[in-house]
Amino acid sequence: MRSLSIFGATGSIGESTFDLVMRQGGPDAFRTVALTGARNVTRLAEMARALKAELAVTAHEDCLPALREALAGTWTEVAAGPQAIAEAADRPADWTMSAIVGAAGLVPGMRALKHGRTLALANKESLVTAGPLLMATAAAHGATILPVDSEHSAVFQALAGEDASAVERVIITASGGPFRDWTLEQIRDCTVAQAMAHPNWSMGQRISIDSASMFNKALELIETREFFGFAPEMIEAVVHPQSIVHALVGFCDGGVMAHLGPADMRHAIGFALNWPGRGDVPVARIDLAQIASLTFQKPDEERFPALRLAREVMAARGLSGAAFNAAKEIALDHFIAGNIGFLDMAAVVEDALASVSGCETFGKLPRTLEDVLSMDHLARKAADTAAGLRQQKR
Ligand code: NAD
Ligand code: MG
Repeated sequence: MRSLSIFGATGSIGESTFDLVMRQGGPDAFRTVALTGARNVTRLAEMARALKAELAVTAHEDCLPALREALAGTWTEVAAGPQAIAEAADRPADWTMSAIVGAAGLVPGMRALKHGRTLALANKESLVTAGPLLMATAAAHGATILPVDSEHSAVFQALAGEDASAVERVIITASGGPFRDWTLEQIRDCTVAQAMAHPNWSMGQRISIDSASMFNKALELIETREFFGFAPEMIEAVVHPQSIVHALVGFCDGGVMAHLGPADMRHAIGFALNWPGRGDVPVARIDLAQIASLTFQKPDEERFPALRLAREVMAARGLSGAAFNAAKEIALDHFIAGNIGFLDMAAVVEDALASVSGCETFGKLPRTLEDVLSMDHLARKAADTAAGLRQQKR
């Protein structure tokens, strides 16, 4: 029987993973080692009961009594706090889903890789902040990382059986989000609710807003660079409003392999769950005649400066990805709290990057997790200061 763990089980990716695992036999087909969540302990406990999980962990100490109560009378052990989440990753599982949102997903993912099994990686922030370290840890321990971001799963599938040295370019698509056709002036005054209203994908709040600002695509360009190792000049993003083509890989003979599918993350999750084979996944089948046309356009870096910043980060590499992601997380917190405007987010990230770029370690590749976490910490402080200044100006 295969064993599995799901980090971030109660989120959007976690729910979809749970759904597929239940459809594929649930506790009769899988031994569930650990499930983790944050404040939604009722749902975490329901999932733990359904999968007969050995361990359920909440990120918050104050949620532990409620989790314990919800799992009374079961075999499931309970624990709380970031340390307990990291320790849950030390319990070996054949297949681990990394679906915590933000830099908080880095430590459990790194720890899971040390057991040399398969890590299904939805947490793109791990690759953005610590790509070289993550890939080296996987290699050193004989572990496999499978990308779960839809674009990266698509690239992975398009590359199957191909010689990577024959690849000329990689194109990831972007829906363009809710503000694709808005003017700069309209975008400037948007609300949190408008930024969350993604036209094609149903996702967690943070990634939805990141899609509206195209910070999500910026993270994904860096993720492509770190996971597949292609040079930054080979990687591009193209706006594709229908979200049917997820990525394309162009080869030296001019041929291009595209991956198509519905905008449903269960495809990428199901691909990772069943890899190296394929299993039935209950996503809608695309009907090309009904879709009728697939359109593409060049992204606008003036309205979406996150894309320009991603290029700068890919060029600087080192710890700039850790700084970029941390600053973006803080800017997003301030936007959600109503302290700064939507366009201020990119300005805050740019200011924070400028502020930490003089740091001696900025251009150096991370050697340890501490290198990454200390840059993350510095950039959060710099972004907080930058956001404070923007808030005063409003
Ligand atoms: P979400 O907000 O819906 O869920 C996040 C999960 O992480 C929840 O289980 C939550 O309880 C947990 N969590 C939140 N903060 C935590 C913390 N500090 N410590 C421990 N656990 C914490 O997010 P999501 O949309 O499912 O996204 C999860 C990850 O997958 C992100 O990295 C996102 O970029 C990536 N991703 C998501 C999608 C999507 O369609 N939702 C697509 C591609 C990639
Ligand atoms: Mg994606």
